[in-house]
Amino acid sequence: MPVATKLAVKLITSKDLEALGLKAIIANAFILYLNPGVKLIEKAGGVHGFMNYSGCIFTDSGGFQMVSDKFLVEINKKWVKFRSPFDQSLHMITPEKDIEIQNSLDSDIAMCLDYMPRSDDKYEDVEESVEITYEWAKRCKQAHKNKKQLLFGIIQGGCFKDLRKKSAGLITSLDFDGYAIGGLGIGESREKMFKAVDVAVSYMPKDKPRYLMGIGTPQDLVKAVGMGVDIFDSCYVTKHSRHEMVFTQNGEIQIGKQKFKEDFSPLDRNCNCMVCRNYTKAYIHHLLKINELSWKRLVTWHNLHFVNNLMKEAREEIKEDRFGRFEKEFFRGYGVKR
Ligand SMILES: [Zn+2]
Repeated sequence: MPVATKLAVKLITSKDLEALGLKAIIANAFILYLNPGVKLIEKAGGVHGFMNYSGCIFTDSGGFQMVSDKFLVEINKKWVKFRSPFDQSLHMITPEKDIEIQNSLDSDIAMCLDYMPRSDDKYEDVEESVEITYEWAKRCKQAHKNKKQLLFGIIQGGCFKDLRKKSAGLITSLDFDGYAIGGLGIGESREKMFKAVDVAVSYMPKDKPRYLMGIGTPQDLVKAVGMGVDIFDSCYVTKHSRHEMVFTQNGEIQIGKQKFKEDFSPLDRNCNCMVCRNYTKAYIHHLLKINELSWKRLVTWHNLHFVNNLMKEAREEIKEDRFGRFEKEFFRGYGVKR
């Protein structure tokens, strides 16, 4: 899922998403609550009506933002108090209030309010976050009455094996529609991250969707799919695109480099996206050099297509029971370590 925090994927419209075959995005309930506000979105017919997107819209609770230094004023077991960066106003959010916001926004999938520790937090702090996340998940489940909206629980526990196990046990005992692994990709090493994913996945039910939050490089997606993860979101793809990086079957290239000045081949020879069918590396390189902003849109379009297509291929290979071979071939071609 591309990230559409404020109901906008950078440089890409709702109709572009549909043309790209992107069937789900994730917005941020807390940010939308602050700006433009829940009332306005309700008037517009909910998040779908407002942005005119027919795909599936997840809303994240905003727990991740609330505890950042930028917003947080005070947190305890009952609520979070924070300051709006837009007008400095003070707000108090409870799990019940968070569910009410996501319900009013009318997203397809709501996420429980969770308490995310930081990557350098000590054991005791992470343990406390596991307990608070569980208490809040119970209250979210209790408050959630909307039958048309699914509710996912979030597993925390940082990189501590026993805390991941504990959180997975507690959260999956509450019978949510799906489960997410949260609190990763925030500065820990890749090795530590995948160890935590491995622990969490082994305690998650097989018949419910598994969602790894905030992870998004092509190599991490393929590896995590191999471990049993189904859903991802990350701003990595769109952000990377604006930093000149292009995903290809043979790894990443930086389109601003001089060597592409006279390269009249598409961004990726094996890609059939709108950009690769119509433009050359040389032309996109030229747009970049003359500071014509459309290059960012073209690269974003291609990269979103690349990742979406990679996941489509993975799904097909799983169905044909060939994922192991697909994974090996991907890593060999992409030129990075699994
Ligand atoms: Zn392409």
